[in-house]
Amino acid sequence: MELRHAIVTVMAVLALAYVLNQSGQTALTGAGSTCTVPAAPGVGDWTAEQVTNAQIIVEVGRDRRIPPWGLVIAVATAIQESGLRNLPGGDRDSIGLFQQRPSQGWGTPTQLSDPAYQAGMFYAKLVTIDGWQRMPLTDAAQAVQISAYPQAYAQHTDTATRLVGYLAGTLHPPTGTSGALPCRAVSTMGWIQPVQAPIVSGFRTAERPGHDGVDLGAARHTLIVAAAAGTVSRVRCNATDIRTGTDWGCHRDGSPTLTRGCGWYVDITHPGNVMTRYCHMNSPPLVSVGEQVAVGQPLGEVGSTGHSSGPHLHFEVHLTADKISTGILDPIPWMAAHGAPLQQAGQHQKQQSASED
Ligand SMILES: [Zn+2]
Repeated sequence: MELRHAIVTVMAVLALAYVLNQSGQTALTGAGSTCTVPAAPGVGDWTAEQVTNAQIIVEVGRDRRIPPWGLVIAVATAIQESGLRNLPGGDRDSIGLFQQRPSQGWGTPTQLSDPAYQAGMFYAKLVTIDGWQRMPLTDAAQAVQISAYPQAYAQHTDTATRLVGYLAGTLHPPTGTSGALPCRAVSTMGWIQPVQAPIVSGFRTAERPGHDGVDLGAARHTLIVAAAAGTVSRVRCNATDIRTGTDWGCHRDGSPTLTRGCGWYVDITHPGNVMTRYCHMNSPPLVSVGEQVAVGQPLGEVGSTGHSSGPHLHFEVHLTADKISTGILDPIPWMAAHGAPLQQAGQHQKQQSASED
């Protein structure tokens, strides 16, 4: 674990440097470009202190390569335990952000007074729980915390998802591709690349005329974000066993030869009846039907469910929000015209093409 953490840390340092400068702006420095996003202000009813603590939880998690669902579990847990405040005390000998107890082996009171330490301890225990990625939030949080009121965690799922979404937009982009990531920011037209990864298969190519989207070759667990603000209009697992016509399920990867369908996927309807679709997610999406999402809000993570030969995001743009074939657009010019061009394969390091549908 320590070695893995060290490797991840070195990679993160090589990839990007974060600087909190004097004016309170977080500067994100990538190779050849720099962008600036606001430092944590209050968000909604949350104070700057609470948002800062949530940001620490998200940063510690991303340094450990915890997938988005894990960040949501951690933030929801801290909301329940402390209201995202670094409390000096609590029930019995509980302390701090996650109300961990020195007497239960979590650390010394001095260590536990550090929110980053508590977040690290939370994640260290979370990742030892078999199958936590697919557990309901209550079960995963309870397995770590062993609370007297385990049912209380789940009520914070939506709030934690929104906070993580907000904060993920201010943090470094998902790692796993290369260190030379250009700065990703929301365009003046309100669009952003859903993942930052090279195009490994294009729209309705000669070889794949029925391919109604583009495939972006991102690593498994890469955060997929909403390309623009809108309303979630569909969240579904669509994976069928070609041989039998029965459900293949999305609890496991699909196959390029045996599985049909988009896997775990999300549709978002944007103003003007534009719809974007995000396929093959690794685990249940972080959003639900009817939910308003902001541009850049996390939707889920890259995976290989449904008709797929390896982790990637299959991304579609529809003008008519339905399946009329002429209403499906090539996402490449669409995204370029909206100020958020997708990355061409040649622009980046060569990647193994792992994509189907
Ligand atoms: Zn595809």
